[in-house]
Amino acid sequence: MDGLMTAVVKQYPKEGADIVKKEIPKIGPDEVLIKVKATSICGTDVHIYVWNEWAKSRIKPPKTMGHEFVGEVVEIGENVTSVKVGDLVSAETHIVCGKCRACRTGNAHICENTLILGVDTDGAFAEYIKVPESNVWINDKNMPLEILSIQEPLGNAVHTVFSGDIVGKSVAVIGCGPIGMMAIPLLKRTGAAAIFAIEPADYRRELAHKLGATRVINPLREDVVSIIKSETEGYGADVVLDFSGNPTAIRQGLEYIAKGGRMSILGLPDNEVSIDITNNVVFKGITIQGITGRRMYDTWYTVKGLLKSGLAEDLKPIITHTFPLTEYQKGMELMIKGQCGKVVLYP
Ligand SMILES: [Zn+2]
Ligand SMILES: [Zn+2]
Repeated sequence: MDGLMTAVVKQYPKEGADIVKKEIPKIGPDEVLIKVKATSICGTDVHIYVWNEWAKSRIKPPKTMGHEFVGEVVEIGENVTSVKVGDLVSAETHIVCGKCRACRTGNAHICENTLILGVDTDGAFAEYIKVPESNVWINDKNMPLEILSIQEPLGNAVHTVFSGDIVGKSVAVIGCGPIGMMAIPLLKRTGAAAIFAIEPADYRRELAHKLGATRVINPLREDVVSIIKSETEGYGADVVLDFSGNPTAIRQGLEYIAKGGRMSILGLPDNEVSIDITNNVVFKGITIQGITGRRMYDTWYTVKGLLKSGLAEDLKPIITHTFPLTEYQKGMELMIKGQCGKVVLYP
């Protein structure tokens, strides 16, 4: 397809981004062109926008930002067989090689050669995006667009929550940014005994409460370790899910985690974190697990099934703001201040 489109582009290696008119992407034989209907802002987009240390080391401007979206297929490459024009689709954002050991053993989410949509390639904050056929996920047309646009981060939450048993367990959720927040209805719907939500921002604590957390804790004002111990007969939380990457919060999690417990970490600390391995890991016999991306494509099928089971309805309070794409800055500001759940943009 020829012509120009509007896009939010990281043009220069500095803070900010710009609205620009640029060429509609040209697809190759194995690619699909999608007209974006809704796209949501991720913490990663905020990192790129404010140009933090990670962004400086990873992003090569100019790049169209954004990676979480839903849209309609408008053109397919000559080799494409599994997707057709008119399909309502989203996409797995990890573009993997399919050839390395991880890919060949069912672990493509840790592919050696991963490229990330909207990070290493042009993204979804635009009227059109191109994606390899193998990354396209065909959606149920009856689901709300806003919910379909957040399946990628929802997949992160699903991957984190279900990387071990949670049925009947007490679970601590550290950090109620958009992904941590999504973990709450997931845990509630699938039978966690208690959900402790730990979050410093007032707005997000309130949302965590509304979503059904058993106890919401402000780590700046309250003693997280003693509260969780007292709520669990002194044993501590069976499962600790970190979505914050905050070193103090992770260390506290290792204090209040129960013996034999599981800590799954999705949050990214900026620097190395020192922990008491002797007392809090070895003698407690716990498992610490890193979570990256979504299992391809097991997690996507789980997300689809959960949305159908009623999760789509549970997640609605998480979509707190919507703007036209051209007003993306408003969304960025809210994300920076922590005064929102998920922000969805319409091109
Ligand atoms: Zn994301
Ligand atoms: Zn690979």
